Amino acid sequence: MTATLIDGKAFAALIREKVATHVARIKEAQGVTPGLAVVLVGDDPASEVYVRSKGKQTVEAGMNSFEHKLPVDTTQEALLELIETLNADQSVHGILVQLPLPEHLDESLVINAIDPAKDVDGFHISNVGLLATGQKSMVPCTPLGCVMMLRDQLGDLSGKDAVVIGRSNIVGKPMAQLLLRESCTVTIAHSRTKDLPEVVKRADIVVAAVGRANFVQGDWIKPGATVIDVGINRIPAPERGEGKSRLVGDVDFAAAKEVAGAITPVPGGVGPMTIACLLANTLTACCRAHGLAEPDGLT
Ligand code: NAP
Repeated sequence: MTATLIDGKAFAALIREKVATHVARIKEAQGVTPGLAVVLVGDDPASEVYVRSKGKQTVEAGMNSFEHKLPVDTTQEALLELIETLNADQSVHGILVQLPLPEHLDESLVINAIDPAKDVDGFHISNVGLLATGQKSMVPCTPLGCVMMLRDQLGDLSGKDAVVIGRSNIVGKPMAQLLLRESCTVTIAHSRTKDLPEVVKRADIVVAAVGRANFVQGDWIKPGATVIDVGINRIPAPERGEGKSRLVGDVDFAAAKEVAGAITPVPGGVGPMTIACLLANTLTACCRAHGLAEPDGLT
């Protein structure tokens, strides 16, 4: 059996198109332009690339992009002051503070200073609580992208057995909440889980968010299961030349694709969905702030 490839790149392009169409509509009809503010502290090269890409895609979707680059020695007070200003700014509907922050800054204090209605990363404690209690919230982008792909691939997820490997606050836990919201029977596995292969073998849906290259083996997968690989791991690739590397996921893709019904590749699976969902969340936040109807399928 060879699995259907879930093309995250193509699906993310569709989401961005849907967002852009809706943005154009509310600009025209209501004179409202969604705005996303991204705050970057320090000069980590990977974060800079990521922030630049977010800014570019925000503008391409017809939204306003506000970039705030702060020096690495920015004080906690100065950062909190900027967040207060952005909270009060009516042209800003979404605020994202690029993580990780330099060590002297308290990440959870900073995240929880963001107005929950503008918390497009969905990391504010209020949004975590709202999601956990089944209420309307801002949902973290990566798990939101995963559930969108699953709904697109499988339709109704109700009653499916789902295993999420990983229990981080940014991926594993919100992923499990979203699958529960879809009425899946959810198991959360982690480093202390006993007999992980047997746990995974029961699952109709496997979401791997472990951070270990090629960790999930092909013979753990139930034939026909849908596999979502969140992992992004850089490994040496001497076949590409000396010192070269390549990206792989948390799932042994070559083996798993022979057993699974559908699978996301790495790269080109979950990764592109994350920024697309950030744009979707910014639009959602804008619609809620102005009392406008929210577009279907983006939350
Ligand atoms: P994390 O915070 O390091 O969490 C990893 C989780 O994996 C932990 O819950 C850990 O369990 C579990 N784990 C580690 N070893 C295990 C083992 N042997 N068996 C079972 N579980 C094990 O990582 P994360 O932030 O969730 O990210 C996970 C992966 O997704 C990383 O590769 C990251 O780069 C990637 N990622 C991708 C995107 C994207 O846009 N595609 C976004 C975010 C993250 P314990 O809790 O017991 O330690």
